[in-house]
Amino acid sequence: MKKFAAALAGAVFAVSFAGPVFAKDKIIGVSWSNFQEERWKTDETAIKAALEANGDKYISADAQSSAAKQLTDVESLIAQGANALIILAQDSGAIGPAVEKATDEGIPVIGYDRLIENKDAFYITFDNKEVGRMQARAVFAVKPEGNYAFIKGNAADPNADFLFAGQMEVLEDAIDAGKIKNVGEAYTDGWLPANAQKNMEQILTANNNDVDAVVASNDGTAGGAIAALSAQGLAGSVPVSGQDADFAALNRIALGTQTVSVWKDSRELGKNAAMIASELADGKKMDEISGVQKFSGGPEGIEMNSIFLKPVPITKDNLDLVIDAGWVTKDVVCQGV
Ligand code: BGC
Repeated sequence: MKKFAAALAGAVFAVSFAGPVFAKDKIIGVSWSNFQEERWKTDETAIKAALEANGDKYISADAQSSAAKQLTDVESLIAQGANALIILAQDSGAIGPAVEKATDEGIPVIGYDRLIENKDAFYITFDNKEVGRMQARAVFAVKPEGNYAFIKGNAADPNADFLFAGQMEVLEDAIDAGKIKNVGEAYTDGWLPANAQKNMEQILTANNNDVDAVVASNDGTAGGAIAALSAQGLAGSVPVSGQDADFAALNRIALGTQTVSVWKDSRELGKNAAMIASELADGKKMDEISGVQKFSGGPEGIEMNSIFLKPVPITKDNLDLVIDAGWVTKDVVCQGV
């Protein structure tokens, strides 16, 4: 009987069955865009653990912030036999041909965290507009009036504009009423903290340091902005937002130089994406995935099968939440406090 089961498992791809076949030993390829960002290591650990528990194999590549490299990375994952792909796109437009190639070959694709607007791809992420709203709300609670700077994300990442749209939704009444003035906004090339720092320096210089609040779109860029503020003696008096619950950012919140981070439990995102990749590779249809909903809020308005997880804002008042969730230890958060 055992022998028969083993032979059957081996033949799973060759024989056509009536229903979906839940095979083991599938290969799931993950294409990372910028693995240097702290959070992706947590995502990776979760993806690997879920695949391992399912008997699937993890292979990956890191595009190192190069849209061109990501195209060859995806081809290489396909050549290595990937049965499904999870793609964190560096550039949502440039990745298009690689995604089409995969779906044409019947390899399911999941747009991971960042939208890849293609009806044949699945989309799993957190509610990014809501992340933007949470960032703006927390900064606005500290500074309901004054000069605001916006350190946005990478322009080729649709999340940059989703975040900014959410931020504007919260602030537009105060902007229209003349209470808040947008004194500078800039995309951050590659989401790199060094570029965020340069952008913040330029905004400070252009305004003779008269900046009262900074809405930065993630913790990496917040770190860059805070370094620029610090050089002008302004760190701690100007509220700054972020997202990701990076350890350094949580520490800055405890120290008082950052106001808010938005925690997106990427352990959940990674686990869910891995399970969905495995199910799609087994032949499950995208609209049969548990919890699936339709989304058409991308720039092209294409309707996609998607899953949105919920973000949580973290300020000095609820740092316990991330500690209690086992995300980070108290020692790390409170270092130097
Ligand atoms: C993600 C953020 C991340 C940023 C930079 C965004 O698309 O949603 O969590 O900080 O990319 O890697």
